[in-house]
Amino acid sequence: MARQESDKDLLRLPVQYVKGVGPARARQLARLGISTVADLLFHIPRRYEDRSNLTLIWNLAHGKVETTQGTVVSVGDLRPRHGLTITKAAIVDQTGVAYAVWYNQPYIKRMLRKGMQLILTGKVERRFGEIQIQSPEFEVLEGDEEDLLHTGRIVPIYPSTEGLSQRTLRSIVHNALTAFVDAVPEILPGDLRERLHFLEIREALRKMHFPSSEEEHLQARRRLAFEELFLLQLVLLLRKQAMGQVQKGFRYRQDGDLIKRFIESLPYPLTGAQRRVIAEIAADMQSPHPMNRLIQGDVGSGKTVIAAAALVLCVQGGYQGALMAPTEILAGQHYLTLKPLLEPLGIRVALLVGGLEKDQREEVLEGIACGEVDIVIGTHALIQEDVTFARLGLVVVDEQHKFGVMQRARLRQKGFYPDVIVMTATPIPRTLALTLYGDLDLSLLDESPPGRTPVVTYWRRSSSRSKVYAFCREQVQQGRQVYVVCPLVEESEKLEAKAALEMAERLSQTELKGLHIGVLHGRMSLEEKEKVMRSFRNGELDVLVSTSVIEVGIDVPNATVMVIEDADRFGLAQLHQLRGRVGRGPWKSYCILIADPTTEEGRKRLEVMERTSDGFAIAQEDLVLRGPGELFGTRQHGLPDLRVANLLTDLPILEEARREAQRLLQEDPTLEDPRHRGLRGALERRFREQVELVSVS
Ligand code: ADP
Ligand code: MG
Repeated sequence: MARQESDKDLLRLPVQYVKGVGPARARQLARLGISTVADLLFHIPRRYEDRSNLTLIWNLAHGKVETTQGTVVSVGDLRPRHGLTITKAAIVDQTGVAYAVWYNQPYIKRMLRKGMQLILTGKVERRFGEIQIQSPEFEVLEGDEEDLLHTGRIVPIYPSTEGLSQRTLRSIVHNALTAFVDAVPEILPGDLRERLHFLEIREALRKMHFPSSEEEHLQARRRLAFEELFLLQLVLLLRKQAMGQVQKGFRYRQDGDLIKRFIESLPYPLTGAQRRVIAEIAADMQSPHPMNRLIQGDVGSGKTVIAAAALVLCVQGGYQGALMAPTEILAGQHYLTLKPLLEPLGIRVALLVGGLEKDQREEVLEGIACGEVDIVIGTHALIQEDVTFARLGLVVVDEQHKFGVMQRARLRQKGFYPDVIVMTATPIPRTLALTLYGDLDLSLLDESPPGRTPVVTYWRRSSSRSKVYAFCREQVQQGRQVYVVCPLVEESEKLEAKAALEMAERLSQTELKGLHIGVLHGRMSLEEKEKVMRSFRNGELDVLVSTSVIEVGIDVPNATVMVIEDADRFGLAQLHQLRGRVGRGPWKSYCILIADPTTEEGRKRLEVMERTSDGFAIAQEDLVLRGPGELFGTRQHGLPDLRVANLLTDLPILEEARREAQRLLQEDPTLEDPRHRGLRGALERRFREQVELVSVS
């Protein structure tokens, strides 16, 4: 025990305790986020170079990225024209000469001297009768015995920073391994490690940094990635387990026929999937423990009515419900849709959004506080502000794929645990569902209401714009309606609004002359927005020119065309959401993407949209194109950085980690077994800021 303590302390030592690290190096390392010995041991290579088998210069192949070794015989700068400096070094080995070429990196010349031994990695081009290596990464070999670390083997290449060479960093990591790796505690239980054939942690770390084969590297990586994901799954499952023990602190009344009357009053029969999900919700609500449910259903699958049914169940049981939407427009629409459905049943509905007059707002707040309001609809600000409920029972969060673990925790502050439903149309790739929402129960709304025809998607160049709008005119003549979405102006709602106004003006004088055109943008007051949405909904407007505020949730079944200008500027998830605004009625619907993409990625997105309307396929492509961090903002939701595991590619490891975490908690729900002490400690250290998630009770 005492030994364990001191081992932990060793790992927390400042990095200067590692041989080769003085104050200057320590400052450089700090820039990489490395301040302790442990940080250094877990500084994972970003790639490897196989220097056990260097390519001879003569064999360097055109077009390939290769690694070679040679002696510098000359270095010089060329300035073929103003503003361009080319540094060129001739390198020889026993088979020939190659030229390393760098552009506008004049400092490289100062780093190289005749006679130096270099290892270079870069793209080979055979041109002008020369073998060139373009902008290679290189390392100077110094020829002492230490070089066994830097050549003749697979060497790690690390994320580094200015002034810190790969060679230096590699030596430092090596020194840290030699002196401190034995202090790293093994936290995986022995039986698990044996069953899954995992390397022991110290061996895994050594092999992660200095593998002697590709296979060793993969073994080490698998072990370390597993450990990260395993800890994460344990936290999520512990949290789920803890929530399962918490008492809601209130009980819904069991009588009443409100829900029955609500369902009978709907203008359509519910789909099978809707019935099933509502039953799942009803069962959760009867449980003494708080509900934590994620409802996933593609755009148009009919989630709103499920939210409404859940809220009705809540009111029937004697409590208040809240429905939160990501935008004021969407909150406004929900209010307009739900009010006429709910008020005839005697349910009092209120809208609480930023744009309300002061006294109106106070009246609503008062109504919520004294319990006169049964259901309040608003934006996510509902949980940020100090809204007091008389007897809140249920919170439904609509369209929020970014509503992660931390925000849900906030709902439960003050020792109060309402039922929570999160609804999202953004199909979440399974890896992320398991991490961001690993503590939730999942309901899938996997059936669309009947009579839908799939939306046909075309990508057109701007040269075809007039044809596109002629088509819109035809649709309007047949009684349908059209959305036109203006180019996205990132960061400036003001410019975006201006663009929308100009576009509407231009269209009303040219291609769409004579049609009734409305404009919607984020700078309008809530009242103005509502007025425009109302006129569009009841058909007074033929065309709605809008900024991307229209993106989520808007529901006007008579609209059959969605034109998106400069569509390549939008992300895939956004395009899919926008397209989901049409195809909601019995008519054939169209999504027309107008774009002359300038980037490869933009072009790819348009092609994906043309090819598929399957939300899951699109989410997966989006994940690949943009990466998980940006897509789901995982970081701001309190998920720890993953150093080894990759959410894009490690689904099998993730699923294994989840299975094992479940299995472990079944045997030892509180991790009290002495064999699990190490795990417990690691969880406490790594998730310190989230301990309240682990011990919610
Ligand atoms: P989502 O929020 O899942 O994107 P909505 O709740 O906005 O979808 O529903 C889309 C449209 O489908 C709405 O016009 C709604 O009235 C309609 N709808 C929902 N459920 C059904 C159903 N069971 N049968 C027919 N239409 C339905
Ligand atoms: Mg919706």
